[in-house]
Amino acid sequence: MSAARVSEPPSPAGGASLPSPAAPDGKVRRVSYFYEPTIGDYYYGQGHPMKPHRIRMAHCLVVHYRLHRFMEIIRPYPAAPEDLLRFHHPDYVSFLSESPLNTSAEKCFWYDRFNVGEDCPVFEGLFDFCKASAGGSIGAAVKLNRGDSDIAINWAGGLHHAKKCEASGFCYVNDIVLGILELLKFHRRVLYVDIDVHHGDGVEEAFFTTNRVMTVSFHKYGDFFPGTGHINDIGVGQGKHYALNVPLSDGIDDDSFRGLFKSIISKVMEVYQPEVVVLQCGADSLAGDRLGCFNLSVRGHAECLRYLRSFNVPLMVLGGGGYTIRNVARCWCYETAVAVGVEPENRLPYNEYYEYFGPDYALHINPRNVENLNTEKDLESIRYFMFSPFTNFV
Ligand SMILES: [Zn+2]
Repeated sequence: MSAARVSEPPSPAGGASLPSPAAPDGKVRRVSYFYEPTIGDYYYGQGHPMKPHRIRMAHCLVVHYRLHRFMEIIRPYPAAPEDLLRFHHPDYVSFLSESPLNTSAEKCFWYDRFNVGEDCPVFEGLFDFCKASAGGSIGAAVKLNRGDSDIAINWAGGLHHAKKCEASGFCYVNDIVLGILELLKFHRRVLYVDIDVHHGDGVEEAFFTTNRVMTVSFHKYGDFFPGTGHINDIGVGQGKHYALNVPLSDGIDDDSFRGLFKSIISKVMEVYQPEVVVLQCGADSLAGDRLGCFNLSVRGHAECLRYLRSFNVPLMVLGGGGYTIRNVARCWCYETAVAVGVEPENRLPYNEYYEYFGPDYALHINPRNVENLNTEKDLESIRYFMFSPFTNFV
């Protein structure tokens, strides 16, 4: 599948309010940004924490900061059912495609079988939403495969909990698995990194037995959804040592996270030498998230992207969780700026959603005054485990 361009090519010379988007290494990155204009209209239902509207809010900030000038903006082709069948079960795909809003006992049977109903409600346009999300990630993979971009962004992707045969954790179709399968057509080794507060279980499970995809997930572990991601889970068979799980406790701050992230990822990059990297930027690891319990600032969160970008390996950047939507928009806007190599002003430009960002109307957020339950000793023992030749991949 390919992607349709809906905008003019980027014109870095246009306007003068932003610095030139050069990376610290002096290299400009060619960035593709996948955005479906209707994505913000999908609605999980009243009271549901997952709000696709946050993607439109992020896009609005991106445009008002004029970051679109430095990227190619692409409207994704919706994924076709055949695309989804590369990972998902045919019964599940046909269930999603029929938009099963009918009632009856039959409905209960199918809802149970595919785990839809409460956390994963059947809402109007569900299948179109899934096709847009997956289409963006597959399109991003195609762009990277062709060597047309250095970084491809899809904030509507990153739905890491979806399984082959069932919905889970607000995710129905695993756009990440589909994107990685597309990357595997042209790349021998794909590194997947997940900084959502929840374990990236759907992606880990899909590639648990292969060494062609290495998964590294940093997440809250212990009495927390989805319950998987123990440090001892390292893959099986050919995939043994190609899954890494970094279990964390409440309140982790920028300093602790940065230290751990950089030490682990630098080793992974050195040893695994991926040809392409996929970063899931779930924003529920930010301070003050409605469902999360970490204490990262937008800058701390984005530091992960900045660090991966510095390796100059083709990079796919995806969304994921994130339930305090004003902060999700801030984070994904700032990360778009990091991708193109621009440092935006902290004062937010006036925009359609300005009132969401009061009282400070600033791009950056302050961490909360909460205890970091990750002690130096905990972090040290995680590092020790990761780098032990007897227990892990080195
Ligand atoms: Zn999450």
